[in-house]
Amino acid sequence: MVDRECIFCKIAAGEIPAATVYEDEDFRVILDLGPATRGHALILPKEHFKDLCELDEKVAARVLPLAGKVGVAMKKALGCSGFNVVQNNGASAGQTVFHFHVHIIPRYEDGPAIVTWDPGKADSQELAEISSLIRSEMSL
Ligand code: 5GP
Ligand code: ZN
Repeated sequence: MVDRECIFCKIAAGEIPAATVYEDEDFRVILDLGPATRGHALILPKEHFKDLCELDEKVAARVLPLAGKVGVAMKKALGCSGFNVVQNNGASAGQTVFHFHVHIIPRYEDGPAIVTWDPGKADSQELAEISSLIRSEMSL
């Protein structure tokens, strides 16, 4: 299913142009218009899923191997020494386009610090309480 109002559906379908680095029947991989680093790419499924929670199993099974292949190609083509795989779900998590996508962000030696946080502290009782809360809602 596609959403006629969704910009990433239109880009994935080729209706709006984007710098494409890979395409197959399920995905288009494009360069981000507002890159965090040189070569920042986005994996877009051609089908519309709002976020990770809506993703179907076929797309889910393919997306991480594809991210790895894009990362390998980036290392060879751009000379980055690593890459981050980032995927935001929900506005509070930084999602701004509500069509599931995966960021592949090349990382260069001496490049900017991104995808970082200051580690907090948690004691074992707190961790036990939190893990129990989440475990009670897990259904696989
Ligand atoms: P999010 O914040 O939802 O995880 O990521 C959305 C990303 O899409 C942002 O990094 C933003 O720069 C990128 N983006 C938004 N609109 C367009 C567009 O029209 N074309 C391309 N190539 N990237 C876009
Ligand atoms: Zn869409």
